[in-house]
Amino acid sequence: MSQPWHSKVLTLFPEMFPGPLGVSLAGQGLKDGLWSLETVNLRDHGIDRHATVDDAPFGGGPGMVMRPDVAEAALSAARDAARDLPMLVTTPRGMLLNQARVRELAAGPGVIILCGRFEGIDQRVIEALDLEEVSVGDVILSGGEPAALTLLDACVRLLPGVMGKAESAEEESFETGLLEYPHYTRPQDWQGRLVPNVLLSGHHENIRQWRRALAEAVTKERRPDLWAAYVRGKQ
Ligand code: SAH
Repeated sequence: MSQPWHSKVLTLFPEMFPGPLGVSLAGQGLKDGLWSLETVNLRDHGIDRHATVDDAPFGGGPGMVMRPDVAEAALSAARDAARDLPMLVTTPRGMLLNQARVRELAAGPGVIILCGRFEGIDQRVIEALDLEEVSVGDVILSGGEPAALTLLDACVRLLPGVMGKAESAEEESFETGLLEYPHYTRPQDWQGRLVPNVLLSGHHENIRQWRRALAEAVTKERRPDLWAAYVRGKQ
């Protein structure tokens, strides 16, 4: 059998992993060996007797910056020549993660993720090792770990065998270039709010068209960026 999809996370807080990825479908997949996870404590690559990993920013300003020599030592030790794992670093300055990139990563051998902390990481190591800078949204987290968990979760659920057929990823938001249509289940009458009639009709083509129309409407209203790309793609 080929090797399972492999993730290595470089962090100052290895105890945050697998965290939420140790339960539910991702957790079962981890137990079943459908994917694997290794953490590296950045502190183990710290310098001097205090295992220092950061220092004050040149040019002044608040906070501390992760040293390039420390990050490089950890990444070099983690680098996986045999598997040629892509090396990513979490930062709000990165390219916004999207489902297309997640699909590519999930289809590959795995990932190495360097989790930032403090104000950030010395830019030279990012350039020297050609790290892929990824952001998980236009928000500031206190550290890269929740971003790494987000990225891993998104990849792992796409791995063969992790999700059951019922939860197939085909029709979901972004996969079609649109946000998804709304969902309804029992009871049919909840506090006087009724399930849309078309969904009770059993008429599959009408249901498909109704869902498509609502998906288009919500995308147009909430995500003009996705809508513009969708319209371009249809031309
Ligand atoms: N001073 C930085 C923010 C540092 S937040 C700035 O203004 O850009 C501390 C760490 O959390 C970062 O190094 C990064 O690894 C992580 N982080 C914060 N927000 C993130 C986001 N939206 N996506 C990915 N990582 C993030």
